[in-house]
Amino acid sequence: MSDVVIIGTGPAGLTAAIYATRGGLKTTVFAGMQHGGQLTTTTEIENWPGVRDGIMGPQLMADMSAQAERIGAEIVYEEITKVDFSGKPLRLWAGDKEIHAKAVIISTGATARTLGLPSENTLMGRGLSTCATCDGFFYKNKRVAVVGGGDSAMEEANYLAKLCSEVILIHRRPVFRASNIMVERTKKNPRIKMMIPYDVVDTVADASGLTGAVLRHLDTGKTETLAVDGLFMAIGHRPNSSVFKDQLEMDENGYLKVHNFTETKVPGVFAAGDIADHVFRQAITAAGMGCQAGMQAIRYIEEHY
Ligand code: NAP
Repeated sequence: MSDVVIIGTGPAGLTAAIYATRGGLKTTVFAGMQHGGQLTTTTEIENWPGVRDGIMGPQLMADMSAQAERIGAEIVYEEITKVDFSGKPLRLWAGDKEIHAKAVIISTGATARTLGLPSENTLMGRGLSTCATCDGFFYKNKRVAVVGGGDSAMEEANYLAKLCSEVILIHRRPVFRASNIMVERTKKNPRIKMMIPYDVVDTVADASGLTGAVLRHLDTGKTETLAVDGLFMAIGHRPNSSVFKDQLEMDENGYLKVHNFTETKVPGVFAAGDIADHVFRQAITAAGMGCQAGMQAIRYIEEHY
C-alpha cells in the first residue's frame, strides 16, 4: 500500500511526486507509456523559468524524474490499466498487479492529435509541430502554416503571426468550430492568410527539414505544394482519460472535472495538468497544478487516515 499513487510522469505528475515525497508520503509514480510526457517530444524549451539559456524537453523531464527519485519517490515503469475508486483504500491495477493507495493523483496528460502524415516521425521538431508556444520562436521571420479550424488553430495562428513573416491557416471546411471572436481576429490579422477548403496530404523536405506541404483542394481534388518552413497541426488534443471512464466526472471532450483546485468528485482522488486543463496546456501550469495536487493529497491523508 502506498500513501499516494501518481499516474503519469509529465511536469504535473513529477512535481506532485516531489511535493508529496517531501511532505512525508510514501509515493509511487507510474510512468505509463511515455515516461516524461509530451515534453519528451519537443525540442528546446525557452519558457521554463530559471533556465536562462533554455533546455531540451527530454533533458528537463529526465532531470525532473531524477529529482523526484533522489527525494525518494519510487518510479514504476508500468501502466495503470484499471481503477476502482468506489471504496477505501483506492484500488488500481497495472495488468494483473493490484495496488492500493490512500490517495491518487491523476496526471496522465493529453495527446496532441496529428494528421497521420507519412513523415510525422522523421519531421516532428524539424518543421512539423503541434505546439506554437513551444516551437514558434524557431520560425521567427519564416513562413509557416497552421492546420485546423478550432480555437486552438486560431490561437496558434495569431501567436505565430507575431513572430513569423506569414502564416497560412489551412482548414478543410468553410465553417469554423472556433468562436466568432477568434475567427474575426484571425481574418483581420494582415499576416494571416486562409486557404479553405484544403487538407494536407503530404510534406516536402530536404536534409535540413520541412520545406513545404502538399495540399489538396477538397472541391476540385487538385493538389499543390505550399512552400513553408513550419507546419503546425492544431487539430485538437485527446485527454488520456479512458481508464477512468465510469469512475470520475468528465466533460464532453473527456477532460477530468476538478473543483477546489485539483479535487475530483471522489475523495482522495486528485487530477493535475493537461488531463484537467485544456486551456493553458503549459509545462509550468501543469507543474503548478501538480504542486497543488501533492499538497492536497498530503492534507487529505492527514485528515482521513
Ligand atoms: P476543436 O475545437 O475540436 O477543433 C479541431 C479542428 O481541427 C476542427 O476545425 C477540425 O475540423 C480540425 N480537424 C480535426 N481533425 C482534422 C484532420 N484530420 N484534418 C484536418 N483538420 C482536422 O479543437 P481545439 O481547437 O483544440 O479546441 C478544443 C477545445 O478547447 C474547444 O472547446 C476550444 O474552444 C477550447 N480552446 C479554447 C481556447 C480559448 O478559449 N482560448 C483555446 C484553445 C482551445 P472540422 O471542424 O472540419 O471537424
